[in-house]
Amino acid sequence: VVIVGSGITGGWAAKVLTEGGLKVCVLEAGAPPEETGEHRPERQAIQSKHPAYSPANAHCWVDDVDNPYTTPEGAPFDWLRGRVVGGRSMTWGRVTLRFSDFELKAASHDGFDVDWPVSYADLAPYYDTVERTLSVCGSKEALPQLPDGQFAPPKAMTPAERAFQERVEKRWPERRVIPNRGIPITRGAQGSLWPLHTSPGSTLAAAFATGRLTLTSKAIARQVLVDASGERATGILYVDQATKATSEIRARAVVLCASAIESTRLLLLSAKDGLANSSGLLGKYLMDHWLVKVAGIVPGAKPDVAIDEFGGPHSILLPRFVNLRDRKEDFIRGYQIWGGLQRPSPFDRKQGAPFLLVAMGEMLPYEDNQVTLDERVTDRWGVPVVRIRCVRRDNEAKMIAHQKETLRELAHEGGLEITQEFEATAPGFTIHEVGSARMGSDPRTSVLNPFQQCWDVPNLWVCDGSGFVSSGNQNSSLTMMALTVRSCTRLADLLARGEL
Ligand SMILES: Cc1cc2nc3c(=O)[nH]c(=O)nc-3n(C[C@H](O)[C@H](O)[C@H](O)COP(=O)(O)OP(=O)(O)OC[C@H]3O[C@@H](n4cnc5c(N)ncnc54)[C@H](O)[C@@H]3O)c2cc1C
Repeated sequence: VVIVGSGITGGWAAKVLTEGGLKVCVLEAGAPPEETGEHRPERQAIQSKHPAYSPANAHCWVDDVDNPYTTPEGAPFDWLRGRVVGGRSMTWGRVTLRFSDFELKAASHDGFDVDWPVSYADLAPYYDTVERTLSVCGSKEALPQLPDGQFAPPKAMTPAERAFQERVEKRWPERRVIPNRGIPITRGAQGSLWPLHTSPGSTLAAAFATGRLTLTSKAIARQVLVDASGERATGILYVDQATKATSEIRARAVVLCASAIESTRLLLLSAKDGLANSSGLLGKYLMDHWLVKVAGIVPGAKPDVAIDEFGGPHSILLPRFVNLRDRKEDFIRGYQIWGGLQRPSPFDRKQGAPFLLVAMGEMLPYEDNQVTLDERVTDRWGVPVVRIRCVRRDNEAKMIAHQKETLRELAHEGGLEITQEFEATAPGFTIHEVGSARMGSDPRTSVLNPFQQCWDVPNLWVCDGSGFVSSGNQNSSLTMMALTVRSCTRLADLLARGEL
C-alpha cells in the first residue's frame, strides 16, 4: 500500500496497515525535521501569523512562497500547514476530544444538511485504541455531548481555575468546567527521538518496528495513477523536492493522508473534473472552526503558581452547553470554551495572574465553500495550486455574537477582569480544516463511503479530515485518527481476503 503524507493520519494508517501484515511505503513531501534547512519568516507570511509559530519550529511549517494558493477577493483563508516528516503532529496543541451523536447525527436533531454515515457506537472502539496508545489524560464526567474515553489521570487545575469552576458551576449548573483532555508531552516509543504525541514518536515508530515500512521523504505526490478503466488506482506519480524529477510507485491500494485540502487537490489533479468525482461534490463543503477570545487577569491570584504549563491536558474546558436538547438560541449547533487561568500566557502577565478564554465554534457545511484548482498559478514544482473559498454566513455570525456575550458573562461571574477582547479569527486560522470529499451512504451524494473508500475507485481511500460531514465543535484530530484506524483495519482485511 502507498500512503501519501506522514502526519497525524498518515502515521496511523502506516501503523495499522503494517501491523496488519502489509508492506507499506509512505510518501512525504517534506524532509525529516533535521534536514529541512533554515526557514525564514519573510517566506512564511501566512504561517508566521500563528501564535504557535516560532523561530525554533519554523522548519515544521510550510514555505509560503514555494507553496502558494489563492482566495477570492474579500474572503481570506489562512491555510496553516506542515511540510515535514510528521506533518502537523510536530506542532499541534494535543487536545483530543471525542465527537458524540450530537455532532454525528446533528441533522436529525436540527434538520440542517445530512447526518454522518457513522454513529458514535461505530467510532467508540477506535477512539479507545487511539487514546490508550497516546496516553490521553482526562476525567470521567458522564457528559452525553462529550463522551468519556480511556483516560490516564487528568492534569491538575490551578487554584484560580478551581475557584472559577466553583463560581461558574454554582451560577450555571449546566455549564461544566473540567480538566481538558489531551496528550501530555512525554517520551516517545523506544528508540525514537520524538515525543509520543508526534507521529515519528508513536505511530511511525510502531510501523518501522514491524520491518514493513519504507518512508520516502521529499517526495511530492503529483497524481494518483489509475488503470485504463479509471476505476482502479495503480499507484502514485511523485516529484522529487530537490531535483523536480518524477517517479512512479505502484501499489495494490492507495491511501491519501495529505490533509483535507491537499488530498482534495491531488484528486482534482488526477483526472479531468477530478478523480472519484461522479457525485460532482469533490472539493465542496469545506469547513473550519473559528476562535473568539478574551484575555485579562485574575484579581488577587498569585501569578507564579507551580503549574507552569499551558496546552493540551494542561488547560480547562467548558464542553458545549448551548442547543443540546432543545434549540434555545437563534442559531443551530454550538461551541466549546477552552482556556487557562494562572498559567503562562502571552497576555498581561505583568499585571498579575493571567487568564485566556477561547470559544471555538462549529461552522456549518455549505456546498459553495469549495476547493478548486487555480490553473493560473503553480507552485515551485509547476503544479497548479488550489483556490480556497470558505465564507461564514448568518448562523456563524449569530453564534459569534453569542460567544462574545458568553465569554463576557463567564469572566464577570467567574471573578475575572478582561483587558483584551479579540475578533473572531479568519477561516483556516483554527487549523481544523475538514470536509471537501465528504463521506456518505449514497454514491450520488458523497465522494467516500462510510470507510473513507472512494465510491468510484474502490482501492483508493482518503483517510484524513476530507471525509468529515460536519465540523462539530470539538478539535478534529482525535476523530480523524479513530476514523483512520477503523478504515485501515477494514482495508487490511479486504486485502488479506483478496477482496480488493
Ligand atoms: C499549532 C497547531 C495546533 C493544533 N492543535 C490541535 C489540537 O489541539 N487538537 C486537534 O485536534 N488538532 C489540532 N491541530 C490540527 C491538527 O494538527 C490537524 O488536524 C492534523 O495534523 C491533521 O492530520 P493530517 O494527517 O490530515 O495532516 P497533517 O498532520 O498536516 O499531515 C499531512 C502530511 O502530508 C504531507 N503532504 C501534503 N501534501 C503532500 C503531497 N502532495 N505529497 C506528499 N506528502 C504531502 C505534508 O507534508 C504533511 O506531512 C493543530 C494544528 C496546529 C498547526
